[in-house]
Amino acid sequence: MNSFARPRLVVSECLGFKTCRYNGETIPVAYIEYLKPYCDFITVCPEVEIGLGVPRDPVRIIEIDGECHLYQPAKGRDQTRKMTRFVDRFLSGLSDVDGFLLKESSPSCGLNKVKVYPGKGKTAPKSEKTSGFFGGAVLERFPYSAVVDEGRLRNFRIREHFYTKLFALARFRKVKSSGATSELVHFHASHKLIFMVYSQKELKILGKIVANPVRKRFPEIISDYEDHFHLAFRDLPRYISYINVLMHAMGYFKNNLSSDEKAYFLDLIEQYRARKLPLSACISVLRSWIARFTEIYLADQVYFDPYPWELATISDSGKGRNL
Ligand code: SF4
Repeated sequence: MNSFARPRLVVSECLGFKTCRYNGETIPVAYIEYLKPYCDFITVCPEVEIGLGVPRDPVRIIEIDGECHLYQPAKGRDQTRKMTRFVDRFLSGLSDVDGFLLKESSPSCGLNKVKVYPGKGKTAPKSEKTSGFFGGAVLERFPYSAVVDEGRLRNFRIREHFYTKLFALARFRKVKSSGATSELVHFHASHKLIFMVYSQKELKILGKIVANPVRKRFPEIISDYEDHFHLAFRDLPRYISYINVLMHAMGYFKNNLSSDEKAYFLDLIEQYRARKLPLSACISVLRSWIARFTEIYLADQVYFDPYPWELATISDSGKGRNL
């Protein structure tokens, strides 16, 4: 398990770390428990940090003259200035962070789907939603990090994407700090199938950067590479991209497998296409063939081991929401 680079992950502190919610409670999240052996966490509760205490009167986002404010109705206090100052200070002080896992719907930590009220009075929220003060700033200032809220993490495809991106970012951070072009060359070679899933276009561009025909120095190459590496991981890959890569990998064994074995694998892919099986079921079979036929190129592909498999096997068992 320790061969994986350890991602640095900023987490809302109320997600199982401290009893810091407005009502003095915490929300245990199983996926965070599973991540604990593999990640270094930086926990934060912005509302406690600005001195609101625990328990506290809840805050909400209200709109005044087209501007969002963080407002505490029971006290009649506007907490916007304190919060924006804290958020700026905290985020500016972060370095080498790979991802954020935040509490959904919170006026502070929420990434989206946060209620907005039309003023200070006792009214129903508006129909449109927004980001929390901390969550919104994270999206703005860390557009290329792995960012998710605990609600969306229940969806296994989103979870798979989040883990894949998070651990890839941690591996890339190590390459960057190595200062060695040879490390980058190996990183690229071992991520080819993952890039094939995420973006064929970026895979080609990254390949050209690594080939380095004009002999750029490491700082220049890594900077070019980083830009396109981030673009490659920007969006959730499509099902068909995963299927194409599974078929591509199967091609390496076409002369070694019986027709029954091929039919079995194709059936697994169909079940994956029909959302009846997780990707990890297909990958497990490919991994067994890689070991059986000593397929060196595939054995080196991170695609078959993008993150600790304990994270997938424990929870990769059903379709969540928000797909
Ligand atoms: S959602 Fe954020 S601000 Fe609210 S209790 Fe959790 S960590 Fe604190």
